[in-house]
Amino acid sequence: MAHAEIHQDRTVDAADLAALSGRTIAVLGFGNQGAAQAANLRDSGHTPLVGNREDSYVAGAREEGFDVRSIADAAAAADIALLLVPDEVQPGLVRDEVAPGLRAGDTLVVASGYNWHFGLLEVPDGVDVVMVAPRMIGAAVRDRYVDRHGFPCFVSVERDATGHAWDTTLAVARAIGGTLGGAIVSSAREEAALDLFSEQAVWPAILDVVRTAHRVAVEAGFSEEAVLNELYLSAEPAEVFAHVAREGLFGQLGLHSRTSQYGQLRSLAALDEQGELAARFARVMHDDILSGAFARDWSRPEAGERLEALHREAAASPIATAEAEVRARLGS
Ligand code: NDP
Repeated sequence: MAHAEIHQDRTVDAADLAALSGRTIAVLGFGNQGAAQAANLRDSGHTPLVGNREDSYVAGAREEGFDVRSIADAAAAADIALLLVPDEVQPGLVRDEVAPGLRAGDTLVVASGYNWHFGLLEVPDGVDVVMVAPRMIGAAVRDRYVDRHGFPCFVSVERDATGHAWDTTLAVARAIGGTLGGAIVSSAREEAALDLFSEQAVWPAILDVVRTAHRVAVEAGFSEEAVLNELYLSAEPAEVFAHVAREGLFGQLGLHSRTSQYGQLRSLAALDEQGELAARFARVMHDDILSGAFARDWSRPEAGERLEALHREAAASPIATAEAEVRARLGS
């Protein structure tokens, strides 16, 4: 069994925290993660600059009292720049506005491994590149810092030009609240691969299960209202997954009736763990993700149009059409 090193508040010492002292921190992007991480950094005793285009996000940042500059100016002023704009705009933005302002000895912090791992970020030599990637949506990054519950995050050093990149990584993780929940030592490759694997193997399989279950149950003569409520409109699966996180994958089974427990475990035992699903998941992991094939496909200029077409196809599918009708009838 492979286990990762974990760093928590009590194991991050003062020397690690000193890695931020006297260094200017800039949060580039004031969206989901940017707004939350900037607020957490400030409450941890730092004075981050915010870099953003002039628009509605900027107004929010100024209202909260941050020193807001253009992305290029904030990057140039920063010793430590947190790159918190959407992944798809990062390569162009780093090339045109961030990299020109970075100097040897600076640190670029990414919150996801995708662009760095797949070679899409051009960062000047001599600049440390590290990852501090919360496993949490931005709003909860803030809420869980405030209530001291914390959130897990993945941390790694991707390029240690200064020899001190690890100290900076841990100090940033601690300052945004990432060591409250536990900073798990990972890598851009692992973070990107697992994220993509979840998105391209696990979630499509779950969506396919729901779509197939809908078709089979409707073909068996049951009403759309009953089928869709049973499957997900009631939000029961969300409740079950919340209990999975708290009580465990099988620990939560105790909350179901004994009939349900018997039916679930009996049917699970009959499935072939090494069957078609395992083969499909392995193909996704190796052939699409680790080979870089997906990243190359998504980098094509026409990929955006293909995404729009796929959205239209999904919205016109039988389950989506039925869902719209049922929602209209239920007023939900
Ligand atoms: P958002 O979509 O919330 O980022 C919005 C910010 O990016 C705004 O400040 C916006 O400014 C700016 N921005 C958008 N487009 C551009 C552009 N073309 N040029 C300049 N600025 C632009 O991003 P997230 O916070 O969701 O993601 C940031 C990073 O955090 C990503 O690497 C993501 O993978 C990672 N992450 C995200 C998580 C999440 O839950 N959202 C969880 C963990 C990691 P403007 O007002 O100018 O549009």
